[in-house]
Amino acid sequence: QIFMPLNFLGFVYREIRGSLANIDNLFTLLDEVPTVEDKPKARELVVKNSHIRFENVDFAYHPDRQILKNISFEIASGQKVAVVGASGAGKSTLVKLLFRFYNPTAGRITIDGQNISDVSQASLRQTIGIVPQDTVLFNDTLQENIRYGRPEATDEEVDEVIRLAHLAHFINSLPEGPKTQVGERGLKLSGGEKQRVAIARALLKNPPILVFDEATSSLDSHSERAILQAIKTIAVNHTSLVIAHRLSTVIDADKIIVMENGEVVEQGTHFQLLRNNGRYAHLWHTQQQSKNINALENREERKI
Ligand code: ATP
Repeated sequence: QIFMPLNFLGFVYREIRGSLANIDNLFTLLDEVPTVEDKPKARELVVKNSHIRFENVDFAYHPDRQILKNISFEIASGQKVAVVGASGAGKSTLVKLLFRFYNPTAGRITIDGQNISDVSQASLRQTIGIVPQDTVLFNDTLQENIRYGRPEATDEEVDEVIRLAHLAHFINSLPEGPKTQVGERGLKLSGGEKQRVAIARALLKNPPILVFDEATSSLDSHSERAILQAIKTIAVNHTSLVIAHRLSTVIDADKIIVMENGEVVEQGTHFQLLRNNGRYAHLWHTQQQSKNINALENREERKI
């Protein structure tokens, strides 16, 4: 008599936990509630190669202000593509359209040749994993927080993604290791550690397409290196799109999309874009200069 209700409560708990994981994955980056509806009898998205194409995409949140203008680019199967550009250039909007939180006002977005407006949103979002800038941690152990990525994952699978997300060193240094309590009532993690938890969750979910929203908050160089390594690991076997704020993240990207005022103004690899000596080269030299100035200042401070 007691077993049935307890069993049911367990089921409810797992369901809530599962949906929280999805909410975390989707909404932390995309702070918005979907406004579009599936077409009647929308098909399931069938993913074979995860080849993404934006074809002449226009978009406006409000009719009087166009945000994206004639955006065209593609991400071939297994490629890592980075989007860079000043604040307000339209990088997050691009991702919102890929998740179909909105429909383009013109043009189309396809995955493996299927217009994402024609497929069910559930199947689309199943295909794409997201690593948000700031991830929500629940009052539970680190291990369980990571398992939110795929609640049925075994301890061994959780351990494996902890290693791949470059969290093992940090977690092993804690007295209770993966069983350490985190969240409001437990250990507080730094921005970089939290982002690596998000990476571990995404690796556990293992969707064919990954979107990575790089943290804008300043990270110490150890955290930054660990995250760079983790993104590299994630990029293997996945088609990935990185919204990049630090150009150090994009050097090894297969393609860099440079956005300005809602338009793609340049695209190419790091070295091609440097040779073009255009907007990207300018952005690169500016970031290098400020890095050099910071390094000089640090050296001077150490002398004092
Ligand atoms: P950041 O690097 O600061 O995140 P971004 O390149 O991602 O910037 P977006 O967030 O895509 O830029 O914003 C592009 C433009 O769209 C901005 O002018 C922004 O004010 C506007 N915008 C974003 N979200 C909305 C919204 N929900 N409603 C109306 N306008 C919006």
